[in-house]
Amino acid sequence: MKPWLGAAEIAAVTEVIESGWVAQGPRVAAFETAFADAMRTRRAVATSSCTTALHLALVVAGIRPGDDVVVPSFSFVATANAPTYVGAWPVFADVDLATGNITAETVAAALTPATRAVIAVDQAGMPVDLAPIRALCDPLGIVVIEDAACGAGSTYHGRPVGAGAEITAWSFHPRKILTTGEGGMLTTSRPEWAARARRLREHAMSVSAADRHASLVSPPEEYGEVGFNFRMTDLQAAVGLVQLGRLPEIVARRRQLAARYRDELAGVPGLRLVEDPAWGTSNVQSLWLEVLPSYGTDREGLLLALASAGISARRGIMAAHRQPAHAGRDHVPLPVTERLTSSTLILPLFHQMTDAELDRVVQVLRDHGGL
Ligand SMILES: *Cc1c(COP(=O)(O)O)cnc(C)c1O
Repeated sequence: MKPWLGAAEIAAVTEVIESGWVAQGPRVAAFETAFADAMRTRRAVATSSCTTALHLALVVAGIRPGDDVVVPSFSFVATANAPTYVGAWPVFADVDLATGNITAETVAAALTPATRAVIAVDQAGMPVDLAPIRALCDPLGIVVIEDAACGAGSTYHGRPVGAGAEITAWSFHPRKILTTGEGGMLTTSRPEWAARARRLREHAMSVSAADRHASLVSPPEEYGEVGFNFRMTDLQAAVGLVQLGRLPEIVARRRQLAARYRDELAGVPGLRLVEDPAWGTSNVQSLWLEVLPSYGTDREGLLLALASAGISARRGIMAAHRQPAHAGRDHVPLPVTERLTSSTLILPLFHQMTDAELDRVVQVLRDHGGL
């Protein structure tokens, strides 16, 4: 992955610097409005990262010490870390072999009497099948939080992912589809959750710093609860506004590159590329493939072969339950997670990638395909 940044981002940042207001202010507000529109949600609250957006989502959803939160182990570690920030316990659910996402069945297998929330991830940009998970959880009073860190530009039943959840967290880290350097967003259909998240990200101040600055005699502010500093800066939001405009082009190019990989590798036995599910389309934030036993070498062998050709690929998605930070947690068997985390790798894919560069990768994959 390489971020796709250009002259428009430079001009936008320059304008913010010249304005003299670089912290959270009018650009953050404009980015929130534009993002909520683009993702067809009612409210958006910008944050310093997706990790802090997940933290805020759990707070406003009322998750407390002693609660269980069902999460996929098959995800970047921030998904499993978030519940611990509010004193809750992450409970690992397995994922579906085709998409790498949790399903209503794997969530049902992981529920406990203390389950109060589920974090459903759109892993690598693959839309999670949210409706059956909500059909399971809503009647039980379990809040479904969507972790769409990788999901901007993916669709679920014709709508942007995230729009079907009560609350969704997004990332603008350079490894994701849009970037602000670091940054995140929380979107929600519930105005009262948005309002509380908006206060909590700014020390739970009753009057925002931007509003105080705008008045000569600033009204006295009050701190109603213990908040955080999870703010995005106007420098970041200015970049985010430009990036958001690039989203359709970014997704189109990534899908084109993925289609070329698919065509070129169709005849190579033993490689399975992740594919769009019946219920949506992926932005191809990451294009992973599974190295099956019928391939000529295993995942580690293929990574080495690529490295010898001067091509850097990456192991597939991690499994949090295998990390020391989450060792010792009880969990249901996670056979699909175990299989995918050992057998998958993420192919090189970035907006500026040429067809010739892609063909070099394909050549190595063909050369090591065994029979
Ligand atoms: C990257 C990622 C995060 C964390 O995002 P940050 O903005 O870096 O905090 C959380 N969840 C998933 C699924 C991710 O891929």
